[in-house]
Amino acid sequence: KELTSSQVRQMYLDFFEQHGHKIMPSASLVPVDDPTLLWINSGVATMKKYFDGSVVPDNPRMTSSQKSIRTNDIENVGRTARHHTLFEMLGNFSVGDYFKHDAVHWAWELLTGEQWFDFDPEKLYITVYPKDTDAKAEWLDAGVKEDHIVEAEDNFWDIGQGPSGPDSEIFYDRGQEMNNVAEDDPENYPGGENERYLEIWNIVFSQFNHTPEGTYEPLPHKNIDTGMGLERVVSVFQHARTNFETDLFLPIIRATEQLSDGKKYEANKNDDVSFKIIADHARAVTFAIGDGALPSNEGRGYVIRRLIRRAILNGKKLGINEAFLYKLVPVVGEIMKSHYPAVLEQADYIAGVIHSEEDRFNVTLDTGLSLLNDTIAATKAAGKTQLDGAEAFKLFDTYGFPVELTTEYAGDEGLGVDQDGFKSEMEKQRARARNARSSAKSMGVQRALLTDIKSVSKYVGYNQLTVENAKL
Ligand code: ATP
Ligand code: MG
Ligand code: MG
Ligand code: MG
Repeated sequence: KELTSSQVRQMYLDFFEQHGHKIMPSASLVPVDDPTLLWINSGVATMKKYFDGSVVPDNPRMTSSQKSIRTNDIENVGRTARHHTLFEMLGNFSVGDYFKHDAVHWAWELLTGEQWFDFDPEKLYITVYPKDTDAKAEWLDAGVKEDHIVEAEDNFWDIGQGPSGPDSEIFYDRGQEMNNVAEDDPENYPGGENERYLEIWNIVFSQFNHTPEGTYEPLPHKNIDTGMGLERVVSVFQHARTNFETDLFLPIIRATEQLSDGKKYEANKNDDVSFKIIADHARAVTFAIGDGALPSNEGRGYVIRRLIRRAILNGKKLGINEAFLYKLVPVVGEIMKSHYPAVLEQADYIAGVIHSEEDRFNVTLDTGLSLLNDTIAATKAAGKTQLDGAEAFKLFDTYGFPVELTTEYAGDEGLGVDQDGFKSEMEKQRARARNARSSAKSMGVQRALLTDIKSVSKYVGYNQLTVENAKL
């Protein structure tokens, strides 16, 4: 079947509506009343109030296509076939209503039913949590062959707070010709580090509440929470090598080709990475600004600034020397208008914000870039493997280069950045600022960045769970 992205989104929502679900709007990317999250990063993130029992939904069955931002995937963008900063998560949710049986049977019907996705069952693999024998039994009952079910120890879903539980993940086998590793590579299995088996859907059987104190309490009612990456499923329907060769991204890439004065997509690997980064970040900043966030030096604003500047640097690599990102806003709006009409309506405002941020960075960009290139050359000449922390700090402080960008840029040249050195320069500046009694702003940056770092949790057993916090 060949379907457009709008048709895929609609088909998912229709399917679950037919099974008694209420279609929910795609909520703002800026979390409401949730200090634990910088951005909405999944469908379920908007539904915590239902799952923790503080609000009772009109209908315990809901479905949505939720715009989501994941900052932990920024550096994957353009390098893997499947990661974005902004993506849409299709989902169906049961708040204490149906559980494993229906969730599994409906999933299989949607994926393989002739009038629905109509995927070939031979191409689908399911991973299950080893102790979750109920889920395995349901998948077998729904019609999945035993040799298409794979046990995976880390199939336990946890977003740091709120509902959690064992999950089943669904992978689509795109064939060895799409792979980036050899057939006999130890990572070449559903769930391994490869581009053959594409994770398209995660179905969480949530039975615990992860409390703010870090404990896990059994939920009085069991819930279903699922997430399917729209862009990934569309790449399957449209036989695309990566998510980017689909109707969700190609028009943005074509528009960027026009702006680039002669560069073509799919002519050169490095350029392709830049095209992908620009297309991805154009979408993310368009939606983020549309939802009321603004570029700044702290929290959400810092993420937007970092994305815009990363897109600008990649534009530079394509030979684009003036403000251009803002011109992609109406292209994004046009692609997304069926589900997100507000973007086109706000296009002038969003473009204006991006344009002025571009102008601001462009003032120091060329000088900053030549300093960066000189520093890289000097580092290499001195036989060192790391850029000086003080140089990285100067690039940040004087030329507006987020340290993550400097690190990435140096990484392309085979060099690291002395992060400790950078931090200590940052500290020195903070101390100076404190002395000048104007520390409020930089502390804000630190605090906001900390809230964006998710805790990583580890499943130990149904009765005993521990949380390990990610190291900074
Ligand atoms: P991956 O292992 O590929 O990084 P994930 O396991 O982190 O994905 P989940 O947290 O399970 O992803 O999210 C549910 C679904 O959302 C995934 O199965 C995938 O289809 C989609 N998804 C997750 N992260 C991204 C992303 N950065 N860009 C696009 N789609 C994503
Ligand atoms: Mg991931
Ligand atoms: Mg995964
Ligand atoms: Mg997953």
